[in-house]
Parts: sequence; structure tokens; C-alpha cells
Amino acid sequence: MDEPRLRLAIQKSGRLTDPSLDLLARCGLKISRGKDQLMAYGENMPLDVLFVRDDDIPDLVQEDVCDLGLVGLNVLEERRLALAARGHPVRFEALRTLEFGRCRLSLAVPDDQAFGGPASLGGRRIATTYPYLLENFLRGHDVSAEIVTLSGAVEIAPRLGRADLIFDLVSTGSTLQANHLREVHTVLESHAVLIRTPVALPPLKDEWVERLVMRIDGVQQVRESKYIMLHAPRAALDEIRRLLPGSESPTIIPLEGTPERVAVHAVCRENVFWETLEGLKKAGASALLVLPVEKMLA
Ligand code: ATP
Ligand code: ZN
Repeated sequence: MDEPRLRLAIQKSGRLTDPSLDLLARCGLKISRGKDQLMAYGENMPLDVLFVRDDDIPDLVQEDVCDLGLVGLNVLEERRLALAARGHPVRFEALRTLEFGRCRLSLAVPDDQAFGGPASLGGRRIATTYPYLLENFLRGHDVSAEIVTLSGAVEIAPRLGRADLIFDLVSTGSTLQANHLREVHTVLESHAVLIRTPVALPPLKDEWVERLVMRIDGVQQVRESKYIMLHAPRAALDEIRRLLPGSESPTIIPLEGTPERVAVHAVCRENVFWETLEGLKKAGASALLVLPVEKMLA
């Protein structure tokens, strides 16, 4: 019998596409994807990738068309609230927070207007493509405003006289600036999320979900990690240990012929900057070497 294959949905074309494919490649997945193909076959894992609009990903997992999905928390939370509002049970489970897709959902007002905090929103018209998250936020602040639900181009709504302010995704703020808007209140800090169906999967599929999650953890852990090697006087070891950024217990290795000096090897779970190296040198270290870490499995 053929091995059951996992199906993972990712964004077809957009800001999450390249980082999603990059993450999967770092997890060791090789896929063959023809141009404009909707589905790519995993050549070395029983996992296929479905390319869709990001907004469809929660429902594809919810409806068991896909076992897994990579999607923004903003899209996921909006869908969760929309389903809850209709009395539908939510059937996706967030497995991991990912390091890409960082942005925020914020309120923004025209440049020339003051903002008196959430309490001042009563009776105002707010344009958004995230009506459920906005409604949830307004309810949390006990204010009632008019939600103007649009399907896109939210940032021009104030200029067109359709809204007084907007509730939209912001990353650098340049789109807001170009439209003479000013971010005044962040409602949700967003990032990509790995979701799965909570439905029990056949053991072989479940095992691959676990392996994938473990590899994702490994990939995310090493992204900033460095392996550092140096020689140091035994007497300075305490200070050297203190200076090594984000490292646990370094390995201390005796050096032939120089009992007062040792080699120190350590994994630093943060980037190692020139300032750190200069500090280590001042503390007596020499022969400093910093290497990138490619894979890590605890
Ligand atoms: P689709 O056609 O798939 O519906 P879209 O227009 O909704 O595409 P994109 O603009 O590609 O989507 O954004 C997809 C997701 O990427 C957003 O929902 C959000 O989670 C995240 N995102 C938005 N802006 C940024 C940004 N500047 N940097 C990183 N991630 C972002
Ligand atoms: Zn979308």
C-alpha cells in the first residue's frame, strides 16, 4: 500500500511564499513544482504542498482538505472569530510560531488628526478588511463604531470620504505615509503560524508532522546561532563565560603544552558581534573563530 501523504497549504504568491518555501527547504524537503502548478510533490518526504490564496488556508485545514498550513496570525484570528460568530466550531490548531511574516494590525488616522485613544472611537467610521478582529477590539474597549468592511485598498478610504480612520496591516509604515496616514494604536502583532487539523491522523502521517515540527524547531533555533571557538587563560574562564552571548555550558579543552591556557568551544544562541569579540580579546582570549551553525537537534 502507498504511504499516506501529508498535504500542506502555503500562500501561492505573496509575502509568505518565499519564506515558506525557504523554511521547507531548510527542513530538507525537495519539491518539484512546475510553473503555475497548484500542487507540488514532495520528492523525499511523504508531503505535498498546495499553493493557494492565504485567506483560504484556515478553511482548507478546517475542512480537512489539508493536514497542515502556513498562514499569518492575522488571517487565522480573523477566521477564528468569523467562525465563532456563526457558531461553528474552530478546527485548526496552532503548532508553532514562525519567525517570518512579521507585521501588525493597527489603527491609523489621517496625519492632521489627533487620536484620543480607543475610547474616542465611538461613532467613528473605520475601514478594514478585518471586520471581526476590529469588532472584537471595539467590544473589548466597550465602544461602538461603524465598521466599513472593504475587500482591499483600505488606505485610501479616508481620502475618499468613506471612513474617518482605518484598521489595517502595517509593517514599515511606508504605505501609510504615502497615504498621509499615521499609525496610532497596535491591536495585533502578527507573524506566520504553522497550523494543523486537530483530527487524528494515521500514525505514519502523525509521525511526519512530528518530524516536520522538530525540524522547524531546529531550523529556527540555529538561525541566529553561532559556534564560537577561542583560546583563553584558565584564570579568565569565568569572565569569558559571562561574555559569551546566549550560551549554555561551553566545552573546555586542555591545550597541549600550555597548562594555563585552554580552548573554549560554545554554541551561542544569538548573533556574535564584533563588540563581543573585542570584549573577549580584552579578557585574554585569542585565536577567536566564529562559525555559522547549520543544523541543531537537541
Ligand atoms: P493573497 O493573494 O494570497 O490573498 P494578500 O494580498 O492577502 O495575498 P500579502 O500581501 O502577500 O497577501 O500578505 C500575506 C500575509 O503576509 C499577510 O496576511 C500577513 O500575515 C503577512 N504580511 C503582510 N505584510 C507583511 C510584511 N510587510 N512583511 C512580512 N509579512 C507581511
Ligand atoms: Zn490574502
